[in-house]
Amino acid sequence: MTVSYPGSCSCGAVRYRLTSAPMFVHCCHCTDCQRQTGSAFVLNALIEADRVVLEAGETAPYPQPTESGRPHVIHRCTQCGTAVWSVYGGRDRLRFVRVGTLAEPAALPPDVHIYTRSKLSWVRLLEGVPAFEAYYDSATLWPAEALARRKALFG
Ligand SMILES: [Zn+2]
Ligand SMILES: [Zn+2]
Repeated sequence: MTVSYPGSCSCGAVRYRLTSAPMFVHCCHCTDCQRQTGSAFVLNALIEADRVVLEAGETAPYPQPTESGRPHVIHRCTQCGTAVWSVYGGRDRLRFVRVGTLAEPAALPPDVHIYTRSKLSWVRLLEGVPAFEAYYDSATLWPAEALARRKALFG
């Protein structure tokens, strides 16, 4: 069974499709994500870049300052500026796709909450979804299938 997930920016110029489920979904409560989104957290679906098909429109890269100095580039619709995905650490074979830009964001709930040390106090997390004060060890948390996909990507 092949599932695919269509998405778009707010003006509709950028249309894209994830050609499979992502490897993993992050809900990040760090202060960078809060500032970059103007919201309480960001939802990112981690997926191979070649499984993100740009069907219409153009994106432009916006490098962000980071505490670690490792690059973080947000890709935005050139018409309306909606952030549609990010690339971290210059590893452009992996995309962090903004789940809120999918046609059905509810289809991809978070697999993990990270940086909950800066989570806004009124955000209540569901029982049973792993949550970490900072980052986490993907080798212990990701399903084997997702780890295999990541290994295929980076070796
Ligand atoms: Zn747009
Ligand atoms: Zn973050």
